[in-house]
Amino acid sequence: MIPYGRQDITAADIQAVVEVLQSDFLTQGPAVPAFELAVATRVGARYSVAVSSATSALHIACLALDIGPGDVLWTVPNTFVASANCALYCGAAVDFVDIDPDTWNMSVAALKVKLIKARTDGTLPKVVVPVHFGGQPTEQRAIWQLAQEFGFKIVEDASHAIGATGEGGEPAGSCRWSDITVFSFHPVKIITTGEGGMAMTNSEELAHRMQMFRSHGITRDAARLEVPSPGGWYYEQQLLGFNYRMTDIQAALGSSQMNRLDNYLDRRNILAQRYDELLAGLDLQLPTTLKQNRSSFHLYVVRVKGQQRADVFKTLRDSGVGANVHYMPVHLQPFYRRLGFTEGTFPAAETYGSEAISLPLYPGLTEEGQTHVAEVLHKALS
Ligand SMILES: *Cc1c(COP(=O)(O)O)cnc(C)c1O
Repeated sequence: MIPYGRQDITAADIQAVVEVLQSDFLTQGPAVPAFELAVATRVGARYSVAVSSATSALHIACLALDIGPGDVLWTVPNTFVASANCALYCGAAVDFVDIDPDTWNMSVAALKVKLIKARTDGTLPKVVVPVHFGGQPTEQRAIWQLAQEFGFKIVEDASHAIGATGEGGEPAGSCRWSDITVFSFHPVKIITTGEGGMAMTNSEELAHRMQMFRSHGITRDAARLEVPSPGGWYYEQQLLGFNYRMTDIQAALGSSQMNRLDNYLDRRNILAQRYDELLAGLDLQLPTTLKQNRSSFHLYVVRVKGQQRADVFKTLRDSGVGANVHYMPVHLQPFYRRLGFTEGTFPAAETYGSEAISLPLYPGLTEEGQTHVAEVLHKALS
Protein backbone atom coordinates (compact mmCIF):
# COMPACT_ATOMS: atom_id res chain seq x y z
CA MET A 1 0.00 0.00 0.00
CA ILE A 2 1.32 3.45 -0.94
CA PRO A 3 0.55 5.51 2.20
CA TYR A 4 -0.94 9.01 1.98
CA GLY A 5 1.93 10.39 4.05
CA ARG A 6 5.21 9.14 5.43
CA GLN A 7 8.19 10.51 7.34
CA ASP A 8 11.65 10.77 5.81
CA ILE A 9 14.44 9.70 8.19
CA THR A 10 18.12 9.93 7.23
CA ALA A 11 21.37 8.70 8.77
CA ALA A 12 21.97 12.27 10.00
CA ASP A 13 18.63 12.20 11.86
CA ILE A 14 19.54 8.90 13.51
CA GLN A 15 22.99 10.22 14.46
CA ALA A 16 21.44 13.36 16.01
CA VAL A 17 19.13 11.25 18.17
CA VAL A 18 21.92 8.87 19.19
CA GLU A 19 24.04 11.83 20.31
CA VAL A 20 21.29 12.94 22.67
CA LEU A 21 20.88 9.41 24.00
CA GLN A 22 24.60 9.41 24.83
CA SER A 23 24.51 12.88 26.40
CA ASP A 24 23.66 14.06 29.91
CA PHE A 25 20.14 15.25 29.12
CA LEU A 26 17.27 13.28 27.58
CA THR A 27 14.88 16.11 28.41
CA GLN A 28 15.19 19.74 29.60
CA GLY A 29 18.67 19.92 28.05
CA PRO A 30 20.12 22.08 25.27
CA ALA A 31 18.46 20.38 22.27
CA VAL A 32 15.03 21.88 22.95
CA PRO A 33 16.10 25.57 22.95
CA ALA A 34 18.29 24.85 19.90
CA PHE A 35 15.27 23.48 18.00
CA GLU A 36 13.10 26.38 19.20
CA LEU A 37 15.70 28.83 17.88
CA ALA A 38 16.01 27.02 14.54
CA VAL A 39 12.27 27.19 13.89
CA ALA A 40 11.88 30.77 15.17
CA THR A 41 14.75 31.94 12.97
CA ARG A 42 13.40 30.16 9.92
CA VAL A 43 9.84 31.52 10.18
CA GLY A 44 10.74 34.94 11.58
CA ALA A 45 8.98 34.82 14.95
CA ARG A 46 10.52 36.29 18.10
CA TYR A 47 9.55 33.47 20.52
CA SER A 48 8.87 29.75 20.22
CA VAL A 49 7.68 27.19 22.75
CA ALA A 50 8.31 23.53 21.88
CA VAL A 51 5.73 21.11 23.27
CA SER A 52 4.61 17.49 23.11
CA SER A 53 2.16 17.97 20.20
CA ALA A 54 0.27 20.58 18.22
CA THR A 55 -2.73 19.64 20.32
CA SER A 56 -0.92 20.75 23.49
CA ALA A 57 0.34 23.85 21.63
CA LEU A 58 -3.28 24.77 20.81
CA HIS A 59 -4.23 24.17 24.45
CA ILE A 60 -1.50 26.39 25.93
CA ALA A 61 -2.18 29.02 23.25
CA CYS A 62 -5.81 29.20 24.37
CA LEU A 63 -4.79 29.29 28.03
CA ALA A 64 -2.25 32.05 27.38
CA LEU A 65 -4.98 34.09 25.67
CA ASP A 66 -7.11 33.52 28.76
CA ILE A 67 -10.05 31.90 27.02
CA GLY A 68 -12.49 30.27 29.45
CA PRO A 69 -16.11 29.78 30.44
CA GLY A 70 -18.37 32.29 28.71
CA ASP A 71 -15.94 32.76 25.81
CA VAL A 72 -16.26 31.40 22.27
CA LEU A 73 -13.59 30.19 19.83
CA TRP A 74 -14.29 29.99 16.11
CA THR A 75 -12.51 27.69 13.70
CA VAL A 76 -13.36 25.91 10.43
CA PRO A 77 -15.18 22.56 10.10
CA ASN A 78 -12.53 21.47 7.58
CA THR A 79 -9.80 20.65 10.08
CA PHE A 80 -8.60 18.03 12.51
CA VAL A 81 -10.71 17.93 15.67
CA ALA A 82 -7.87 19.37 17.79
CA SER A 83 -8.37 22.88 16.32
CA ALA A 84 -11.80 22.96 17.98
CA ASN A 85 -11.23 20.80 21.06
CA CYS A 86 -8.70 23.26 22.51
CA ALA A 87 -11.52 25.68 23.38
CA LEU A 88 -13.48 22.98 25.18
CA TYR A 89 -10.40 22.02 27.25
CA CYS A 90 -10.57 25.58 28.63
CA GLY A 91 -14.29 25.51 29.35
CA ALA A 92 -15.06 27.83 26.42
CA ALA A 93 -17.50 27.14 23.57
CA VAL A 94 -16.78 26.42 19.90
CA ASP A 95 -18.43 27.65 16.74
CA PHE A 96 -17.41 27.34 13.10
CA VAL A 97 -16.93 29.51 10.02
CA ASP A 98 -17.57 27.97 6.61
CA ILE A 99 -14.79 27.44 4.06
CA ASP A 100 -14.06 28.89 0.65
CA PRO A 101 -15.13 26.34 -2.01
CA ASP A 102 -11.86 26.75 -3.96
CA THR A 103 -9.06 27.19 -1.40
CA TRP A 104 -10.83 25.03 1.24
CA ASN A 105 -9.55 27.50 3.87
CA MET A 106 -11.66 29.73 6.11
CA SER A 107 -13.81 32.00 3.93
CA VAL A 108 -12.98 35.60 4.81
CA ALA A 109 -16.38 36.66 3.43
CA ALA A 110 -18.20 34.12 5.62
CA LEU A 111 -16.12 35.24 8.61
CA LYS A 112 -17.09 38.87 8.06
CA VAL A 113 -20.81 38.11 7.71
CA LYS A 114 -20.74 36.00 10.87
CA LEU A 115 -18.84 38.70 12.82
CA ILE A 116 -21.35 41.40 11.87
CA LYS A 117 -24.21 39.21 13.06
CA ALA A 118 -22.34 38.23 16.23
CA ARG A 119 -21.73 41.88 17.10
CA THR A 120 -25.48 42.49 16.96
CA ASP A 121 -26.20 39.33 18.98
CA GLY A 122 -23.41 39.92 21.52
CA THR A 123 -21.74 36.61 20.62
CA LEU A 124 -18.39 37.80 19.21
CA PRO A 125 -15.56 35.24 19.50
CA LYS A 126 -12.60 35.78 21.81
CA VAL A 127 -10.29 33.72 19.58
CA VAL A 128 -10.42 32.71 15.91
CA VAL A 129 -8.36 29.74 14.68
CA PRO A 130 -7.76 29.81 10.92
CA VAL A 131 -6.22 26.60 9.56
CA HIS A 132 -3.70 26.62 6.71
CA PHE A 133 -5.37 23.66 5.07
CA GLY A 134 -3.08 21.28 3.21
CA GLY A 135 -0.23 23.77 3.61
CA GLN A 136 -1.84 26.73 1.87
CA PRO A 137 -1.77 29.89 4.04
CA THR A 138 -5.11 31.53 4.80
CA GLU A 139 -5.78 35.12 3.72
CA GLN A 140 -4.19 36.09 6.99
CA ARG A 141 -3.85 39.86 6.54
CA ALA A 142 -7.58 40.19 5.83
CA ILE A 143 -8.40 38.09 8.90
CA TRP A 144 -6.05 40.27 10.97
CA GLN A 145 -7.84 43.41 9.76
CA LEU A 146 -11.14 41.89 10.91
CA ALA A 147 -9.51 41.08 14.27
CA GLN A 148 -8.66 44.78 14.71
CA GLU A 149 -12.22 45.77 13.78
CA PHE A 150 -14.05 43.18 15.89
CA GLY A 151 -11.57 42.70 18.72
CA PHE A 152 -10.69 39.02 18.67
CA LYS A 153 -7.34 37.21 19.02
CA ILE A 154 -5.93 34.87 16.37
CA VAL A 155 -4.23 31.48 16.75
CA GLU A 156 -3.12 30.19 13.35
CA ASP A 157 -3.23 26.41 13.12
CA ALA A 158 -0.25 25.91 10.79
CA SER A 159 0.06 22.20 11.56
CA HIS A 160 0.27 21.58 7.78
CA ALA A 161 2.25 24.63 6.85
CA ILE A 162 5.77 24.98 8.20
CA GLY A 163 7.81 26.50 5.35
CA ALA A 164 4.78 27.80 3.46
CA THR A 165 4.58 31.51 2.58
CA GLY A 166 1.59 33.80 2.13
CA GLU A 167 0.92 37.33 0.96
CA GLY A 168 4.14 39.28 0.34
CA GLY A 169 6.19 36.14 1.00
CA GLU A 170 5.26 36.18 4.68
CA PRO A 171 6.26 32.84 6.27
CA ALA A 172 3.59 30.85 8.10
CA GLY A 173 4.49 31.18 11.75
CA SER A 174 5.91 34.72 11.65
CA CYS A 175 2.79 35.85 13.53
CA ARG A 176 2.78 39.12 11.59
CA TRP A 177 -1.00 38.80 11.32
CA SER A 178 -1.81 36.76 14.42
CA ASP A 179 -1.09 36.43 18.13
CA ILE A 180 0.14 32.82 18.10
CA THR A 181 0.84 30.18 15.43
CA VAL A 182 1.15 26.45 16.09
CA PHE A 183 3.01 23.77 14.14
CA SER A 184 2.70 19.97 14.33
CA PHE A 185 5.60 17.55 14.01
CA HIS A 186 3.55 14.34 13.75
CA PRO A 187 5.23 11.92 11.28
CA VAL A 188 2.79 12.66 8.43
CA LYS A 189 3.43 16.42 8.65
CA ILE A 190 6.19 18.37 6.86
CA ILE A 191 8.94 17.70 9.42
CA THR A 192 8.69 15.31 12.36
CA THR A 193 9.81 14.78 15.94
CA GLY A 194 7.73 11.59 16.36
CA GLU A 195 5.16 13.47 18.39
CA GLY A 196 5.67 17.18 18.88
CA GLY A 197 4.50 20.70 18.28
CA MET A 198 5.52 24.31 18.69
CA ALA A 199 3.80 27.60 19.45
CA MET A 200 5.24 30.77 17.89
CA THR A 201 4.56 34.35 19.04
CA ASN A 202 6.07 37.83 18.98
CA SER A 203 4.71 38.66 22.44
CA GLU A 204 7.08 38.19 25.36
CA GLU A 205 4.15 37.92 27.76
CA LEU A 206 2.34 35.25 25.71
CA ALA A 207 5.60 33.32 25.33
CA HIS A 208 6.14 33.43 29.09
CA ARG A 209 2.59 32.29 29.81
CA MET A 210 2.89 29.41 27.33
CA GLN A 211 6.22 28.35 28.89
CA MET A 212 4.49 28.33 32.27
CA PHE A 213 1.52 26.26 31.04
CA ARG A 214 3.93 23.82 29.34
CA SER A 215 5.61 22.97 32.62
CA HIS A 216 3.23 22.84 35.60
CA GLY A 217 2.88 26.62 35.95
CA ILE A 218 6.31 26.68 37.59
CA THR A 219 8.97 29.40 37.27
CA ARG A 220 12.49 29.82 38.66
CA ASP A 221 12.95 33.22 36.99
CA ALA A 222 14.07 35.60 39.79
CA ALA A 223 12.40 38.57 38.11
CA ARG A 224 9.04 36.77 38.11
CA LEU A 225 8.96 35.36 41.67
CA GLU A 226 6.12 36.45 43.95
CA VAL A 227 8.32 36.04 47.05
CA PRO A 228 12.06 36.86 47.25
CA SER A 229 14.12 33.73 46.65
CA PRO A 230 15.51 32.25 49.87
CA GLY A 231 18.09 30.15 47.95
CA GLY A 232 19.04 28.22 44.87
CA TRP A 233 16.46 25.46 45.42
CA TYR A 234 13.54 27.82 45.19
CA TYR A 235 10.79 27.76 42.55
CA GLU A 236 7.17 28.84 42.53
CA GLN A 237 4.07 27.31 41.04
CA GLN A 238 2.05 30.38 40.11
CA LEU A 239 -0.72 28.86 38.00
CA LEU A 240 -2.08 25.45 37.01
CA GLY A 241 -0.01 24.08 34.14
CA PHE A 242 0.71 20.69 32.62
CA ASN A 243 3.64 18.55 31.57
CA TYR A 244 3.54 19.28 27.85
CA ARG A 245 7.32 19.31 27.39
CA MET A 246 9.15 18.03 24.32
CA THR A 247 12.13 15.77 25.03
CA ASP A 248 15.67 16.51 23.82
CA ILE A 249 15.49 13.25 21.84
CA GLN A 250 12.57 14.66 19.85
CA ALA A 251 14.08 18.14 19.53
CA ALA A 252 17.35 16.77 18.11
CA LEU A 253 15.36 14.92 15.46
CA GLY A 254 13.43 18.12 14.75
CA SER A 255 16.57 20.24 14.31
CA SER A 256 18.05 17.64 11.99
CA GLN A 257 14.83 17.55 9.95
CA MET A 258 14.82 21.37 9.72
CA ASN A 259 18.06 21.11 7.72
CA ARG A 260 16.03 19.44 4.95
CA LEU A 261 12.90 21.61 5.13
CA ASP A 262 13.63 23.28 1.78
CA ASN A 263 14.20 19.93 0.09
CA TYR A 264 10.88 18.70 1.46
CA LEU A 265 9.03 21.79 0.25
CA ASP A 266 10.58 21.56 -3.21
CA ARG A 267 9.83 17.87 -3.53
CA ARG A 268 6.22 18.25 -2.35
CA ASN A 269 5.65 21.14 -4.78
CA ILE A 270 7.15 19.17 -7.68
CA LEU A 271 4.96 16.16 -6.90
CA ALA A 272 1.86 18.39 -6.57
CA GLN A 273 2.54 19.97 -9.93
CA ARG A 274 3.02 16.52 -11.45
CA TYR A 275 -0.37 15.44 -10.03
CA ASP A 276 -1.87 18.56 -11.66
CA GLU A 277 -0.52 17.39 -15.01
CA LEU A 278 -1.34 13.69 -14.60
CA LEU A 279 -4.93 14.40 -13.52
CA ALA A 280 -5.76 17.28 -15.90
CA GLY A 281 -8.90 16.57 -17.92
CA LEU A 282 -10.45 14.20 -15.37
CA ASP A 283 -13.79 15.14 -13.83
CA LEU A 284 -12.11 16.23 -10.59
CA GLN A 285 -11.62 19.52 -8.79
CA LEU A 286 -7.88 19.89 -8.20
CA PRO A 287 -6.27 22.12 -5.53
CA THR A 288 -6.31 25.89 -6.14
CA THR A 289 -3.29 27.72 -4.76
CA LEU A 290 -3.68 31.51 -4.61
CA LYS A 291 -0.99 33.35 -6.59
CA GLN A 292 0.31 35.08 -3.48
CA ASN A 293 0.94 31.75 -1.73
CA ARG A 294 3.54 29.04 -1.82
CA SER A 295 1.94 25.95 -0.26
CA SER A 296 3.95 23.42 1.70
CA PHE A 297 1.65 20.76 0.16
CA HIS A 298 1.15 18.66 3.25
CA LEU A 299 -1.87 17.28 1.37
CA TYR A 300 -2.90 16.91 -2.24
CA VAL A 301 -6.69 16.70 -2.21
CA VAL A 302 -8.97 16.07 -5.18
CA ARG A 303 -12.73 16.51 -5.13
CA VAL A 304 -14.79 13.79 -6.80
CA LYS A 305 -18.01 15.38 -8.05
CA GLY A 306 -21.44 13.95 -7.41
CA GLN A 307 -21.99 10.77 -5.38
CA GLN A 308 -19.00 8.73 -6.53
CA ARG A 309 -16.53 9.41 -3.73
CA ALA A 310 -17.00 6.10 -1.89
CA ASP A 311 -16.54 4.09 -5.11
CA VAL A 312 -13.44 5.98 -6.20
CA PHE A 313 -12.00 5.73 -2.68
CA LYS A 314 -12.59 1.95 -2.62
CA THR A 315 -11.00 1.50 -6.07
CA LEU A 316 -7.92 3.39 -4.84
CA ARG A 317 -7.62 1.32 -1.66
CA ASP A 318 -8.23 -1.93 -3.56
CA SER A 319 -5.42 -0.93 -5.95
CA GLY A 320 -2.86 -0.38 -3.22
CA VAL A 321 -3.30 3.39 -2.91
CA GLY A 322 -3.64 4.54 0.72
CA ALA A 323 -6.09 7.33 -0.01
CA ASN A 324 -7.59 9.22 2.92
CA VAL A 325 -10.15 11.93 3.66
CA HIS A 326 -9.20 15.30 5.14
CA TYR A 327 -11.56 16.20 6.61
CA MET A 328 -14.99 14.99 7.54
CA PRO A 329 -16.52 18.20 8.93
CA VAL A 330 -15.74 18.50 12.64
CA HIS A 331 -19.21 19.83 13.53
CA LEU A 332 -20.79 16.59 12.23
CA GLN A 333 -18.70 14.31 14.47
CA PRO A 334 -20.98 12.53 16.97
CA PHE A 335 -19.41 14.46 19.85
CA TYR A 336 -20.11 17.82 18.21
CA ARG A 337 -23.62 16.79 17.13
CA ARG A 338 -24.31 16.12 20.80
CA LEU A 339 -23.31 19.75 21.46
CA GLY A 340 -26.10 20.77 19.08
CA PHE A 341 -24.46 21.14 15.66
CA THR A 342 -26.50 19.87 12.73
CA GLU A 343 -26.17 19.17 9.03
CA GLY A 344 -26.79 22.06 6.66
CA THR A 345 -25.11 24.67 8.85
CA PHE A 346 -21.81 24.93 6.94
CA PRO A 347 -22.71 23.83 3.40
CA ALA A 348 -19.38 24.52 1.69
CA ALA A 349 -17.47 22.41 4.24
CA GLU A 350 -20.13 19.69 4.14
CA THR A 351 -20.12 19.38 0.33
CA TYR A 352 -16.32 19.48 0.38
CA GLY A 353 -16.28 16.75 3.07
CA SER A 354 -18.46 14.49 0.89
CA GLU A 355 -16.20 14.86 -2.16
CA ALA A 356 -12.61 15.08 -0.89
CA ILE A 357 -9.94 12.42 -1.29
CA SER A 358 -6.31 12.95 -0.18
CA LEU A 359 -3.87 11.28 -2.54
CA PRO A 360 -0.44 10.02 -1.40
CA LEU A 361 2.06 12.88 -1.07
CA TYR A 362 5.38 12.74 0.77
CA PRO A 363 9.03 13.34 -0.14
CA GLY A 364 9.77 9.64 -0.70
CA LEU A 365 6.84 9.10 -3.11
CA THR A 366 8.36 7.87 -6.39
CA GLU A 367 7.30 8.92 -9.87
CA GLU A 368 6.27 5.30 -10.54
CA GLY A 369 4.13 5.29 -7.40
CA GLN A 370 2.54 8.57 -8.38
CA THR A 371 1.90 7.38 -11.94
CA HIS A 372 0.16 4.32 -10.50
CA VAL A 373 -2.11 6.56 -8.38
CA ALA A 374 -3.01 8.61 -11.46
CA GLU A 375 -3.69 5.50 -13.58
CA VAL A 376 -6.02 4.09 -10.94
CA LEU A 377 -7.91 7.39 -10.86
CA HIS A 378 -8.19 7.47 -14.65
CA LYS A 379 -9.63 3.96 -14.58
CA ALA A 380 -11.98 4.71 -11.68
CA LEU A 381 -13.42 7.79 -13.36
CA SER A 382 -13.77 6.44 -16.89
C1 LIG B 1 -2.13 17.15 12.93
C2 LIG B 1 -3.00 18.31 13.26
C3 LIG B 1 -3.21 18.75 14.57
C4 LIG B 1 -2.73 17.99 15.76
O1 LIG B 1 -1.39 17.76 15.71
P1 LIG B 1 -0.70 16.80 16.80
O2 LIG B 1 0.74 17.21 16.75
O3 LIG B 1 -0.94 15.40 16.32
O4 LIG B 1 -1.34 17.06 18.11
C5 LIG B 1 -3.94 19.90 14.77
N1 LIG B 1 -4.47 20.58 13.74
C6 LIG B 1 -4.32 20.17 12.47
C7 LIG B 1 -4.92 20.98 11.37
C8 LIG B 1 -3.59 19.01 12.19
O5 LIG B 1 -3.46 18.59 10.93
